[in-house]
Amino acid sequence: MDKFNKFISEARTVVLASHLNPDGDNLGSLLGMYSFFKDKKEVYAIEDDILPENLKFLPNIKFLKKSDEIKIKPDLFITLDCGDEDRIGESAKKIFKSAKKTVNIDHHRTNTNFADLNIVDPKAPATGEILYELLSQMGSLDIDTATCLFTAISSDTGSFKYDSVRERTFEVAGKLLSLGIDLNQITINLFQSRSVEKTSLLVLSVKNILYLQNGKAAIVKVTDEDMLNTGAKKSDADGIVEFVRDIEGVELAVLLKEKGKDTRISTRSKKYIDCTKIVGHFEGGGHIRAAGGTIRFPIIEAEKEVIKVIDEEFKCLEF
Ligand code: 5GP
Ligand code: MN
Repeated sequence: MDKFNKFISEARTVVLASHLNPDGDNLGSLLGMYSFFKDKKEVYAIEDDILPENLKFLPNIKFLKKSDEIKIKPDLFITLDCGDEDRIGESAKKIFKSAKKTVNIDHHRTNTNFADLNIVDPKAPATGEILYELLSQMGSLDIDTATCLFTAISSDTGSFKYDSVRERTFEVAGKLLSLGIDLNQITINLFQSRSVEKTSLLVLSVKNILYLQNGKAAIVKVTDEDMLNTGAKKSDADGIVEFVRDIEGVELAVLLKEKGKDTRISTRSKKYIDCTKIVGHFEGGGHIRAAGGTIRFPIIEAEKEVIKVIDEEFKCLEF
């Protein structure tokens, strides 16, 4: 914390970035930190990817910038919720490389400690929780910051459900709530705003679930054609893998999403499977219960590769 405070006090210009395929922890952390510093520093928050509709309620979202709009070499570059520097994308990486000092604030256990200062707590259920600790010792939090941080934590814990949640998580949530945030507004946006197109994509994809290992593993696929047929946006595949995980008896859920000649993989588990081991075969990373990566095969071949990995992984486990 001392080093972080020193970096902050010495910096006049600060650029904040998070990863591609933004999720709630990612954007909540990014805008939480932006909201906290916006009247204190010359601060920029960058997000180069498309924003999910249900996160557009976040305070100060209109101030997000694209990397190519940033013309300065910042004193400080802070990455949020990124396990490695490639996760911020090529364009943001150029600004990262040009910065005088860099900080990496994250909770992925596969984090590669790529910055000058690495504040990485793999036990934290969300980057938003780490930010609460850092920011609250620097000054009081306003309602915008609190809304963003609560969204970050609620999002990465599936609304405080996952086994990553600890006593401190509820304490932090309580403190944020006491600042007057609108919990119902956050809940409606995060969990009760699935668009019709996104719902159609969910329904279409779960029609063809492939069950393996006596129903303990399940693979679901989303193709470009599915996207076209439903009119869904890229981020509309979010939530499908959790829906499959929530099926009784399924320990491991896998989503394969077509991406040109490659395939994106998303994995979720309940209790026994380490998802980082599965995606470790596919240039990926993340957490024990949620991890992702990229398979360098088109979706049909990718599925065959994944089945092999699942077979291997389940062989070693008895449950
Ligand atoms: P999702 O399946 O929702 O894309 O990602 C699940 C978790 O794994 C998230 O915490 C995400 O940051 C991480 N993750 C997803 N894809 C990648 C990847 O390609 N590389 C790394 N290092 N982490 C990833
Ligand atoms: Mn996160």
